[in-house]
Amino acid sequence: MSPGRVIEVPVLIVGAGPAGLCASILLSQHGIESLTVEKHPGTSIYPRATGINVRSMEIFRSLGLQDEVSRASFKAEPRIAFSRALTDSEPNVSPTFRPDHLDVSPAEWTSCSQKELEPILLRAACSHRQAQLLFGTELLGFDQTCDGITAQIGDRVNGRRRDVRCRYLIACDGSRSSVRERLGVRMFGPGVLNHNVSIHFSAPLGRYIPMGRNFLHFVQNEEVMGMFVATDGGSRWVFAIPYHPEQGETPDAVTKVRAVDLVRKGAGVPGLEVDVIGIVPWRMEADCAERLRLGNVFLAGDAAHRMTPAGGLGMNTAIQDVHNLCWKLAAVLRGWAGPALLETYEAERRPVGQQNVDRSVGLITGGGNVGDRSALDFDLGIVYQSTAVHPDGTERPSGAGGEFVPSARPGSRAPHVWLGRVSTLDLFGPHFTLLAGPRGVSWRAAVTKAARELEFPLMDRSRGRDTDRHAWQRCYGVGESGAVLVRPDGHVAWRRSASVAAPAQELDRVLNTVLSRSSEEVSDLVTPDLDRLTSLTAS
Ligand SMILES: Cc1cc2nc3c(=O)[nH]c(=O)nc-3n(C[C@H](O)[C@H](O)[C@H](O)COP(=O)(O)OP(=O)(O)OC[C@H]3O[C@@H](n4cnc5c(N)ncnc54)[C@H](O)[C@@H]3O)c2cc1C
Repeated sequence: MSPGRVIEVPVLIVGAGPAGLCASILLSQHGIESLTVEKHPGTSIYPRATGINVRSMEIFRSLGLQDEVSRASFKAEPRIAFSRALTDSEPNVSPTFRPDHLDVSPAEWTSCSQKELEPILLRAACSHRQAQLLFGTELLGFDQTCDGITAQIGDRVNGRRRDVRCRYLIACDGSRSSVRERLGVRMFGPGVLNHNVSIHFSAPLGRYIPMGRNFLHFVQNEEVMGMFVATDGGSRWVFAIPYHPEQGETPDAVTKVRAVDLVRKGAGVPGLEVDVIGIVPWRMEADCAERLRLGNVFLAGDAAHRMTPAGGLGMNTAIQDVHNLCWKLAAVLRGWAGPALLETYEAERRPVGQQNVDRSVGLITGGGNVGDRSALDFDLGIVYQSTAVHPDGTERPSGAGGEFVPSARPGSRAPHVWLGRVSTLDLFGPHFTLLAGPRGVSWRAAVTKAARELEFPLMDRSRGRDTDRHAWQRCYGVGESGAVLVRPDGHVAWRRSASVAAPAQELDRVLNTVLSRSSEEVSDLVTPDLDRLTSLTAS
């Protein structure tokens, strides 16, 4: 990055919420420089999201952050309760969001508030020399031409303005995204569902109910209706109550005195000691952007889709958006992939955004297009369909009652199988990974050839213990001479159950398709770097 008046950087990230911070870390991991601008002076001062789902925790594991996030977590049962008051002894509860079968992942659903999570992500982002982050700095505008993007940023303290020239811009600027507005991208969905005021408070509720009993708790009685959210393992809570602007109500009516009264009535504890920390109005919205990409600008996170808090999906979808996008940007910037690879971001992530919007609405209204899939299937059962996936003609396996069924069918998240103390998931990213059966010598030779053109780690399982080997092969649907190719984001790109007559040609063809490389672009590929060819063995 140049230190002068104009900053030149391959990728500009707008917003340092969960999506922006993860994008910064992921791009650095791929060796790509980025600049992140955030208008606030620091990370979120409010707890906001508190539920991190299994897939996001798997991503944090791959970034080396799983333990730190777990340490910052608190206990909360991942389910939604409904009753007249928070302290009622027998509320109605939804099914748990936590997997019944912990053998499907090396990670687990975790409660950790955004207020605790974001500093962890920020430290990780700042640890990479490729990343520059400017807080108190706002994106003021940008212009996009065929030569790239020129953005204007301004320091909110000293008013100094600077230009940033970049090739790509990732809009992680939240639900009110000014980037999205500037591009004129429309949102589709029910839109504003209701208006709320969040009362942030501390109170010794642990004297009345077991802490961590439920993740969200809706209460409704003659005097108050709202949603309690525990935000740490101690005494800090949020009580979100609706207000009705169409009836002339305003959030200002919730004074501190009124807030204390409402919390007591919602908790069902007259005289509860309540310390009000803050009162924040917000709108519950549900919609999805019509486009996630315009030219070289990409929308991610809340800028791309707005969800109700039910199901704890907003932040998780945001993290998983950039996990999908960043390896593609890196592959194009480094010359391994054709620019058309970037089209697969919208093709793969928009349906997921739409599905999660619908699910978040369905969980609140009891309707919506949520089908009968389990929460775990929504979380780990995402199957991408795009040119970055090479289908193998098999059908998606379906579990009884919508249960999640691990599968290595192309497009799926590659399943977790323990190989001794290592999970198969630990072998994936930041590069493509080939897992071959013990007689998959021809695939390994083919991948060595491909690695002359790409950085391409090769996982040689033939040295694994027999039990491990059979377990992963069975789970992945790969025979002794078969192989599976896993993308940097841990989704399966291609699978062959057995060897073929010309493996090198097959792999070339697959890579050319999956990476959108036309033959002219292939010849422009970066110089072979065989030192980077890693042979991963779990022996
Ligand atoms: C009450 C509540 C409870 C929730 N609970 C959950 C939950 O349990 N689980 C879950 O997954 N999600 C939950 N969510 C949603 C979650 O908070 C969001 O989905 C998540 O923060 C989205 O992350 P993001 O990075 O896309 O956007 P944000 O976190 O909103 O970050 C956007 C950032 O961009 C910055 N920005 C905006 N414009 C500019 C600009 N022009 N220049 C520079 N910076 C800019 C903003 O200051 C902000 O920091 C909840 C939300 C609410 C309100």
